[in-house]
Amino acid sequence: MDRGLHFMFCVVTTVLLLRESSQTGAMRNDDAMIKANDLRGPEENLPVLTVTTILEDPYAMVRSAELEGYCIDLLKALASMLHFSYKVKVVGDGKYGAISSNGNWTGMIGEILRQEADIAVAPLTVTSAREEVVSFTTPFLQTGIGILLRKDTISDEMSFFHFLAPFSKETWTGLLFAYVLTCVCLFLVARLSPCEWNEPKNEENHFTFLNSLWFGAGALTLQGATPRPKAFSVRVIAAIWWLFTIALLAAYIANFTALLSSGSEQLTIQTFEDLVKQRKIEFGTLDGSSTFYFFKNSKNPIHRMIFEYMDKRRDHVLVKTYQEAVQRVMESNYAFIGESISQDLAAARHCNLIRAPEVIGDRGYGIATAQASPWTKKLSVAVLKLRESGDLDYLRNKWWESSCLHKSRERWSPLQPQALGGLFLTLAIGLALGVIAAMVELSNKSRHAAGHVKKSCCSIFTEEMCTRLRIKENTRQSQETSGRANA
Ligand code: GLU
Repeated sequence: MDRGLHFMFCVVTTVLLLRESSQTGAMRNDDAMIKANDLRGPEENLPVLTVTTILEDPYAMVRSAELEGYCIDLLKALASMLHFSYKVKVVGDGKYGAISSNGNWTGMIGEILRQEADIAVAPLTVTSAREEVVSFTTPFLQTGIGILLRKDTISDEMSFFHFLAPFSKETWTGLLFAYVLTCVCLFLVARLSPCEWNEPKNEENHFTFLNSLWFGAGALTLQGATPRPKAFSVRVIAAIWWLFTIALLAAYIANFTALLSSGSEQLTIQTFEDLVKQRKIEFGTLDGSSTFYFFKNSKNPIHRMIFEYMDKRRDHVLVKTYQEAVQRVMESNYAFIGESISQDLAAARHCNLIRAPEVIGDRGYGIATAQASPWTKKLSVAVLKLRESGDLDYLRNKWWESSCLHKSRERWSPLQPQALGGLFLTLAIGLALGVIAAMVELSNKSRHAAGHVKKSCCSIFTEEMCTRLRIKENTRQSQETSGRANA
């Protein structure tokens, strides 16, 4: 027994040791990628490039007196591939680069133009204005423009009609249409089917249109409403409608529960239009950023309104740094309009922040060089090689990892009609089957009647159809019948 336990202990220990060594092996491989890309020393007589960058999380950050981040790793990889050495400097004015009132360029673009730096490796957006004065490599990261919000800045407008949120507008419209169509089918089939309404001339039809609507509504709330269908055809329609309503209610309850527990119910600002149409939350961009100029140059009326709002309150709503923007969103009623890739990181790091779903203006980050620089082409090719080898994806995953991302729940969204497509289709098939069954019932009756009165089956069938569908006349007749019966 003891020996057996000892053997088991040895096996478990060996397995654990093997697993540990394979894990550290994997880690060493990851580190190796960065180590292999480390700089060669100046003793190898490599050309030395002055690289300008900006301090922004996670592109370049100061950690224990050294720079690290996505852009620093990218630079190491490029230096290793293209055999150059480099000196990194942080941009003097802390700006990306915009043309100032005196016609000079600020930020990293200005430093390249004044030859204070050879290349800029930073989250620097490729724009037409910048491309006119410097050259850009192929973008190494793609992004768009989004809105960063604090989850609770938008809470107190919890909608009065919140119960409608689980389904999208289209789904509610589809549901209404399905309800009316089913009630119309029920009404028609109950008139056509001789098993439901045998004697149109002397008998009252219980499935009036109003009663059909009442029957459908009763099923929607799981309340069995009268009249009770007798004919097979009417029962087919009733049964398919019951099935439809049960599945629909299950979907509604499930999505409502998910909505209440996700916290997304407070997200009343989903788009740039929502943002510009409200007055409670201030919004702005980074001063002199490509995002600010995107709105300045846009011809879209919503974008123009956003620009005019920001331009009028320039000193108040524009922020100087990205860190200031995140701080302001967390501490006040402020929405930051900026690049979605950076906002995703902020939302992943600070769990009380969220990025609104709408993203506009696709753009990319490129490495900037002087216009006639021989490095532009080489750097572009190297960026493409890094992308093709998967190294850019590796760096993206490495620097965008976050604890909050793992904790965050799936984003909630109202149920779209496509999600219930099968259900709507089943209902449609059921309704068609009900109508066909009613026709079969009526044609059977016509066949029997034709035998008795010696007329053609077709003419009896048409006569029956006309009598049964002549609503007013029948109503009058049934009223007369009931009047006579009362007398
Ligand atoms: N990457 C931008 C630029 O190059 C700045 C960030 C932003 O617009 O949010 O200007």
